[in-house]
Amino acid sequence: MTHPVHARIEGPLVMIGFGSIGRGTLPLIERHIAFDRDQFTVIEPSGEFAHILKEHGIRHLQLALTEANFAEVLRGLFPNGKGFVVNLSVDVDSVELMTLCQELGVQYIDTVVEPWPGFYFGSPLPNAERTNYPLRERVRELGKSYVGGPTAVSCCGANPGMVSWLFKEALLRLAADTGVTATPQSRADWALLAMTLGVKGVHVAERDTQISARPKPAGVFVNTWSVDGLLSEGYQPAELGWGTHEKKLPPEGHRFDHGPGYAIWIDRPGADTRVRSWCPGVGPQFGYVVTHNEALSIPDYYTVWDGPQALYRPTCHYAYHPCNDAILSLHEINGAGLLPEEKHILTADEIVAGGDDLGVFLYGHAKGAMWYGSRLTMDQARALAPYQNATGMQVTSAVLAAMVWVAENPRAGFVEADEMDHARCLEVQRPYLGSVECHYTDWTPLQNRINRFAGDRDEDDPWQFTNFLAV
Ligand code: NAD
Repeated sequence: MTHPVHARIEGPLVMIGFGSIGRGTLPLIERHIAFDRDQFTVIEPSGEFAHILKEHGIRHLQLALTEANFAEVLRGLFPNGKGFVVNLSVDVDSVELMTLCQELGVQYIDTVVEPWPGFYFGSPLPNAERTNYPLRERVRELGKSYVGGPTAVSCCGANPGMVSWLFKEALLRLAADTGVTATPQSRADWALLAMTLGVKGVHVAERDTQISARPKPAGVFVNTWSVDGLLSEGYQPAELGWGTHEKKLPPEGHRFDHGPGYAIWIDRPGADTRVRSWCPGVGPQFGYVVTHNEALSIPDYYTVWDGPQALYRPTCHYAYHPCNDAILSLHEINGAGLLPEEKHILTADEIVAGGDDLGVFLYGHAKGAMWYGSRLTMDQARALAPYQNATGMQVTSAVLAAMVWVAENPRAGFVEADEMDHARCLEVQRPYLGSVECHYTDWTPLQNRINRFAGDRDEDDPWQFTNFLAV
């Protein structure tokens, strides 16, 4: 089978981290991006998957980047003012890497704003400052110093990342289905379109149904992607973009006392904060409000301003139903109040059934609610590319699409997925997404209860966050 080569990377190509996402991204880069193999280095402290790098003829620099060594290591790898850093690691500070890449004239992509160790756990910071809001604001502020610099994509995997492209496609579909003429070009046009369509909010609604044949052993935290990544973000406070239609803050909800204020945080862990949400296949379900960059970038991007006044902004948050083993793992560690000692990421070889439905759930508009996204089964993922499960495939193909976009737009400075050409990115990514589907539903969070109990309900507006939140 031949694969289209979409772009060429000139100079050194350095991948940082060779975990579940790094391993899955490698074959996609090899297929779709031209590069010099002798200039490709992977920086990865573990030797567990070194044999894959050896088989592919890729240089393995077996070390951990730290605050003390990262600048020296990377300067040594990029002597000529060109090249590309693909950061797919945990525990390496994204902001520091982005700054250094600007200085070195090197392009950059990551999938999360990652800090050095010490931020997620055991931090002296107050909870408001342990959220993603200050992390994102730091990146946005820094970007102002590098307008027109080498392109640096912040937070572009599946979510954050691809879901921002799907959201745009979903808005165009909703416009077409409700007879609204839409040719948005600028950020302001897109925000106005979301307002015109009456979209009150958007869940990044995910259901991971992948299962292994082996029951999860007690005490082992099992997931379909980085356990460290899920634990880090899951035990930050829950966080969400705060829509202009919302009437009151949730219990323990707080506004930020600095910056543009498009989001709120809740003083409880995202991995223990559930909302009612909806995905095709299952219909109504619980999801966790795990904090994510897209829950901040989407409400920021889609704010309609009247001078200093926000006229319109959608509520936005993740509503994540991880795989069953991860749900059970979270239940165990929440009960124990202790982080797990053993961690395991399910591989394509272990998963016997299921897939990942990952999309955007737009609610409050003329047609009620709509889910729009990728439905990818493990069997499909297995047939598409090696070294990954369905969750990984949605992420790695987004990294690929963003890398192609970077090569085509080499001096865009700092960008997030919302600011990229969604049509081009999805064109590159779509062959790896299984079925991209649109589902309308008349479900609201006020429906379906097993017996009636006390609860904070707003019967006048089903789309208030209060109605979604399950405490
Ligand atoms: P993983 O845990 O499987 O792998 C992380 C890798 O980073 C490991 O191989 C580890 O050895 C390496 N690493 C740790 N410390 C390092 C250091 N100091 N220097 C260099 N490498 C180091 O994680 P993953 O599933 O591959 O995910 C990678 C990243 O992508 C995580 O930050 C995760 O949160 C993020 N992610 C984003 C999305 C998205 O959709 N945006 C989805 C999945 C994962």
